[in-house]
Amino acid sequence: MAASQASQASQVKQQSRPRLPQVGQILESPFLEQAISRLSRPIVTDAIRRVIDGYRKQRRFITSDEDMQQLQNDILSSCRSLIRTRQTRVINATGTVIHTNLGRSPISPELWDAVSEVNTGYSNLEISLAKGKRGERKGLVNHLVNALTGSEDAVVVNNNAASVWLLLNELAAGKEVIVSRGEQIQIGGGFRIPDIMRMAGAKMVEVGTSNITTADDYIDAVTEDTALVLMVHKSNFAVRGFTETADMKEVARRLPEHVLLAVDQGSGLVTETISKEEIPADRYLRQGAHLVCFSGDKIIGGPQAGIICGRKDLVKKLEKNPMMRAFRPGRVVYSLLEELLVRKLNSEDCGRGIAERSQLNLEANRQWAEREAAELGGSPEQGNYVSLVEDQLIIGGGTLPDEYYPSWSLEINLNKAANQILDELREMPVPVVAVIRNDKVRINLATILPEDRDVVAGQLRNYFFAKESQEYVK
Ligand SMILES: *Cc1c(COP(=O)(O)O)cnc(C)c1O
Repeated sequence: MAASQASQASQVKQQSRPRLPQVGQILESPFLEQAISRLSRPIVTDAIRRVIDGYRKQRRFITSDEDMQQLQNDILSSCRSLIRTRQTRVINATGTVIHTNLGRSPISPELWDAVSEVNTGYSNLEISLAKGKRGERKGLVNHLVNALTGSEDAVVVNNNAASVWLLLNELAAGKEVIVSRGEQIQIGGGFRIPDIMRMAGAKMVEVGTSNITTADDYIDAVTEDTALVLMVHKSNFAVRGFTETADMKEVARRLPEHVLLAVDQGSGLVTETISKEEIPADRYLRQGAHLVCFSGDKIIGGPQAGIICGRKDLVKKLEKNPMMRAFRPGRVVYSLLEELLVRKLNSEDCGRGIAERSQLNLEANRQWAEREAAELGGSPEQGNYVSLVEDQLIIGGGTLPDEYYPSWSLEINLNKAANQILDELREMPVPVVAVIRNDKVRINLATILPEDRDVVAGQLRNYFFAKESQEYVK
C-alpha cells in the first residue's frame, strides 16, 4: 500500500513538470509497426532511445500534441535512414551494366526460382546419392565449367580474389612469379596484385614496362626458382597507343617444363560475343595457359564466386589447400552456378549474363524512352523538360574497359542542381541510381531491367507531377 501510494505520488510529481514519454510506451505505438517489421524491435528501441536522449540533452519536452507529432516524426526519420541501409532493390540507370556498387550481375528470376527448392530443404551438398557416403561438394559444377571452357577440371571459390590468392599460394609459395609491369593493377577496393602476391607468400618478379612486355621479357626472367608466370587481364583501364603485350602462345611454347602459366582473366567472358577485344577464358586455355580464373558475377552472370579451371592435376592441388575450407562457397552459390551453366550451355535466354541481355533491348528502349519523354513532356522555355538523348553503355565491373555500346537515355532538365535531382531519384520508393553527364542528369535505359520499366515510369510521373513540384509545366 505504501509503495503504491509512493508511486502514485511520484507519477503526479512527474506529470507536474515537463517530461518525455517512456521508450517502451512509444515502441508500442502503431506508427512504428512498419519500422519494427523492417528493422526489428531492438533496432527501433535504440533509435527511439537516441532521439529521446537528444531531446533530453537539449531540454526539449513534450507539452503539446504538436511536440508529440514532432517527436514521432524525428523517430520515424531516424528509422527511415536505417531502413535505407538495408539490402534493397534499386534501379540501375547508370549505363554501367556490371556495376560493383549495385551488386554486379542480377540473377535471372527464372534461375532464382529454379534453385529455391534445393536451398529451402536439405540437399545432397556433400553426400554421394549413388553411394550413400560423403561425396564431393562441387557436384556437377566442374563438368559444366569444363563443357563451357574446354578445361579438364575446375574449382569454385568465394570470389576471384580468392582464386588468385589460392593459385599463387598453392603453386608458388616461396617461389618466384613473373608478372608484367603493365599488369600491376589494382581492382576496386584495395585488391592489388603485388599485395596479394606478398600475402600468398610468392616473390614477384616484374618484367617489361607499363606499355610493352614481350615474350622475351618473360622467358629471360625465368630462373630455377620460377614457379609461375601470371598474366592479369587489364581490368578497368586500357593502355592505348604504343603498346605491346606478349603473345600467349609463344610464351606458353617457350616456357620450360617447371614453369606454369596462369591467367587471371577476370571478366569470365567465354561464349558471349559482345566484345571485339576481350579474350575469352577458353581461348587462353587453348593458347596454352595451364589455369585460368575469373569471377562468377561478371560477364557469365552468376552469383559472387571465383572459378578456376584448367589442368586436372593442378586443380586437384588447389582443392587440397588448407585455405580451401575458408574459400569454399555454400550451396546457394553452387546451385545457382549449376543452374546458370546448364541454361547457358543449352543457349536459354535466362542463362545469358546481364552484359549480353543488355544488348538485346536497344530498339525497345528507344521506343519506350521516346514515349516517356513525350508523356513527361515539359516546357523547354522554362527549363523544365525531359528529352531523349543518344548515349553509351559500358559493361563495367572491371571488364571491357575500352568498349562502348550504343544506348538511349532520358535527360532530365529541371530548375535545380543536377546533384539535387540525383539525390531525389535515390529517395524514390525503388531508388533510381542515375548519372550526371555535361551537368545534366541522365537515366540510361540500357541498364534498366525490362521488368523495372513500369516502376521507373510510375516514379518519374510522381516525381514530375506531384503537388510539391507544381513548378513543372506539362
Ligand atoms: C574483378 C577482377 C578480380 C576480382 O574478382 P572478385 O570476384 O571481385 O574477387 C580479379 N582480377 C581481375 C582481372 C578482375 O577483373
